[in-house]
This record gives sequence, structure tokens and C-alpha cells, in this order.
Amino acid sequence: MQGQKKGLVIAIDGPSGAGKSTVARLLAHRLGYTYIDTGAMYRAIGWKAKQDGIDPADELGLASLCDRTVVTIKVDHDDPRIVVDAVDVTGEIRTPEMGMMASAVSKSPAVRARLLGLQRELGSHGGVVMDGRDIGTVVFPKADLKFFLDARPEERGQRRYRELRQKGLDVDLDRITREIRERDRQDSGRELAPLKAAADAHVIDSSTMSIDEVLAVMMESARMKDVS
Ligand code: C5P
Repeated sequence: MQGQKKGLVIAIDGPSGAGKSTVARLLAHRLGYTYIDTGAMYRAIGWKAKQDGIDPADELGLASLCDRTVVTIKVDHDDPRIVVDAVDVTGEIRTPEMGMMASAVSKSPAVRARLLGLQRELGSHGGVVMDGRDIGTVVFPKADLKFFLDARPEERGQRRYRELRQKGLDVDLDRITREIRERDRQDSGRELAPLKAAADAHVIDSSTMSIDEVLAVMMESARMKDVS
């Protein structure tokens, strides 16, 4: 514990399908922290852009959308929800299409500025595990603990495929793997807050690791920061 903070700020970044959200949720649970899924926020804006018929390349359109849209994150229980204006979009934003929309709108300076404010506010008291693409580099460059969770693209495709099938979605493995590669390319290549490991991040390649093994590595690092 540091100063007035309730706990550490833990950043978990990495490409799509590396298992960030699963381990971030479990890590937060173990530490009694709040889990914050920043990808869901970009998906929510992507969802709203689609609803309103706004082209993700239309910067003015996205800026105006951000001005009139209220994104609410309900983090207080085991089942986090995300609400856009009055609509709970938690389930609807989990599709591959919304993943691509999120990646497209995430290039926008207006969208990033808006969500950056929300993310910093949510993490300002500490005691959070936040996952995304730029948490350790841009959102909380001074995070107490940073991880960059990676895995081979084929493995990430398989994982995402299994996850979506379990949810009952009729998806195709080749297509999912192609979309993951395309999203990686967009997320790493963009000018603003590109996906990359912070210089001081612990890089974990989870290709051949189980969730429990990844979690054990993270818990060990957290313990070394004096969290029991
Ligand atoms: O993590 P998830 O797959 O839900 O993220 C969806 C998209 O949102 C990513 O592909 C990325 O383009 C964007 N994103 C981002 N910065 C974050 C989190 C997500 O640009 N911190």
C-alpha cells in the first residue's frame, strides 16, 4: 500500500485473445481489487457508432458522438456491466464485428481522449486491475505493476474461437484468426497509443501456459510489491 491509495494499480496489456480479461478478472478477485475492462469501453463506442450510422473514419462525427453519449461502467459486483446511455450492451459488444468496430474507432483522438479520462478516474484510488492496449504506456505510465501478456496468433485464435463457441456464436476458426491478426496490425500500427509493451512491463508469453500458471506468475510479482 502506498500513501492514501487503497491498493496497487496493475496494468495488463497485450494483443487480442492473449487471455488478458480472464487473468485480469481472476487476479482482481484474488487481491480484492476491481477489474476494469477498457476494451469494453472501445467496443461500447463502436456499438454506438454503428447504431448512429457513423463511419469510424469520421472524426467530427465521433467527437460529437462522444459529447452526447454517456458510457457507464458498473464495477461493484462480480458481474461487471457496461451501459451506453440507458442500454446495457454488455452481451452485445462481445461479437467479432464489435471487436473490429472497437479497433476502428480506437484510432480516433476524440474517442481516446474521452475514454482516457474515464479510465484514469476509475483507477485514481488504486486497487484496480485494468486491461487493454495502452494501460501501462499511456493511461497509467506510473502503474505499480505492469504486465504484457502475449501468445502466438494461432493460439490466440483458438482461444477466442473456443470462447465464442461456448457463448453459442456460430464462428469460423480461420476467420477469427484472420481478424485477430488484422486487429493486431491496426492496434500496433496506429499513431495514437499503439499496442506495445511498456519498457518496465513483465512480458509473459502464455502460448504454452495455463491460466493458473499465468496467474501464479502475476501473484508472485504482486507479492513482491508487498501485497498479500
Ligand atoms: O480488449 P478488446 O478486444 O475488447 O478490445 C477491443 C479493441 O479496443 C482493441 O482491438 C483495440 O483496438 C481497442 N482498445 C484500445 N485500447 C485499450 C483497449 C482496447 O485501443 N486500452
